[in-house]
Amino acid sequence: MNETLSVAQCQTWLFNFSNTIIQISNDLDTLDAATGDGEHGSNLSTGSRAILKYLAGAPAETLGKFFEDIGMTIVNNVGGASGALYGTLFLRLGELSGNFAEVDLQTISTALSYARDGVVELGRVKTGDKTLLDALDPAVETLLESASTGVGLHTAISNARIAADRGRERTAIMVARKGRGSYQGERSIGHIDPGATSMAKLFESLEMALQP
Ligand code: ADP
Ligand code: MG
Repeated sequence: MNETLSVAQCQTWLFNFSNTIIQISNDLDTLDAATGDGEHGSNLSTGSRAILKYLAGAPAETLGKFFEDIGMTIVNNVGGASGALYGTLFLRLGELSGNFAEVDLQTISTALSYARDGVVELGRVKTGDKTLLDALDPAVETLLESASTGVGLHTAISNARIAADRGRERTAIMVARKGRGSYQGERSIGHIDPGATSMAKLFESLEMALQP
């Protein structure tokens, strides 16, 4: 399979993601109000507006620099746990995407896996802790599996989107063990994690960006 992900598609990806986050900002705040401090949507929206501004200017033309710029924009504009975690995710994606204007499934999967590991290290988090990792990890594992079995890029990303969304749903039955949600302990059961919800949207936005 020779399908690739181009820098133009990645710009569309981040454009879609930023607009989606702004649209669902209140819903994310409501989810965060149940287990945290009620500002996950507002928090990410500040970063989303900064990303839209960046995209409207002259965004970088290599994937490494593009993802680095997105990571820095997030780090500089998004507070809270999610700012550092999403920031790390994109900075690490940038580190492995290099000087390319497009990448294949193997390259993007490896970069996303390295980015996932950065989230794990920074958050000192594991799957099942009811965080954004519970959407990110199954998506990354699906991509790695697809890359090793020769599944095409588009199909792989659709499957990753489905895996992320299932992971998001599964957070409802988990007890929060990290971040503010952990203060609620067992009372967090029954609530979907806001970070897993925004993360599922990240993969949905990527899939949308690949549509012709
Ligand atoms: P804050 O928790 O500082 O208010 P946000 O509300 O923006 O930041 O983000 C909350 C989300 O961040 C949670 O729903 C969870 O998914 C994620 N999160 C919090 N702490 C961690 C952690 N240590 N590791 C991974 N994800 C985390
Ligand atoms: Mg919060």
